[in-house]
Amino acid sequence: MKEPTLGNPQNTIEILQKYRFNFQKKFGQNFLIDTHVLDKIIRAADITKDDFVLEIGPGIGTMTQYLACAAREVTAVEIDKALIPILEDTLSDYDNVTVINEDILKVDIAALAEEKNGGKPIKVVANLPYYITTPIIMGLFENHVPLESITVMVQKEVADRMQVGPGTKDYGALSLAVQYYAEPYIVANVPPNCFMPRPTVGSAVIRLTRHAQPPVHVRDEKLMFRIIRASFNQRRKTLANGLKNSPELDLPKEVISEAIDRLGRGASIRGEALTLEEFAELANHIGELM
Ligand code: SAM
Repeated sequence: MKEPTLGNPQNTIEILQKYRFNFQKKFGQNFLIDTHVLDKIIRAADITKDDFVLEIGPGIGTMTQYLACAAREVTAVEIDKALIPILEDTLSDYDNVTVINEDILKVDIAALAEEKNGGKPIKVVANLPYYITTPIIMGLFENHVPLESITVMVQKEVADRMQVGPGTKDYGALSLAVQYYAEPYIVANVPPNCFMPRPTVGSAVIRLTRHAQPPVHVRDEKLMFRIIRASFNQRRKTLANGLKNSPELDLPKEVISEAIDRLGRGASIRGEALTLEEFAELANHIGELM
């Protein structure tokens, strides 16, 4: 299979000029132009010739070429139809790649995994469009896509939010959701000069390795996530007030105070101080008391 040619800034510029490509800000288009970063992503994703890989937003196919060399098969989903003829060109030497011109949020990824990988866990690799990072990642987890890992470039601040625990300003609903489903690991920080055009924010590559089993036992997952969202909606309020004021929860006052009491952290505890285990415990208490 042909060695990747893109990733080198000169070759990227050539392709962009050949097709008179105009970057679309609304699609979060910042293309990678650093071969070291590309190598690092491929290594972190731990791809073998047995793997089916889903790439989200291939752009002009830079990372797709690397993925095609490492994996058995790649499907790349790209929303921008102006990129499709370019991808046909840059990926013409790779016969294990399929490009789908679609919005990733509208793709039935579980069905794709069934079709392409016999329903076995897939690897997702992407330099994500930052404007939809959270819906993409939460969609993968919540829609029960069979997943082994997600290795993605995201905004640095978002990578930090996914990885932290209680007691930091970045801790929130995203940290808890990601850590319920997966083990996060920040692989590398990536500066703006590794992209064309340069983003205004710093970036990071994060690998999320799906847990075989969630790390906590919770009887009603949906209730726990409603409680988590309610607690962080009003971060500076006590947990009790956050739960009382939530439009998503309709809980009697006595249930809230009894459940918080059972946690043993005092009546004035804030949601931002609770661990994932404690949110699970709280959800189980509330479920029992209802
Ligand atoms: N993978 C390329 C690279 O690393 O050079 C491009 C990454 S760029 C940050 C994000 C890509 O996602 C763009 O090609 C953009 O058009 C595409 N994209 C944006 N929104 C999308 C969506 N909803 N579904 C699929 N692709 C999308």
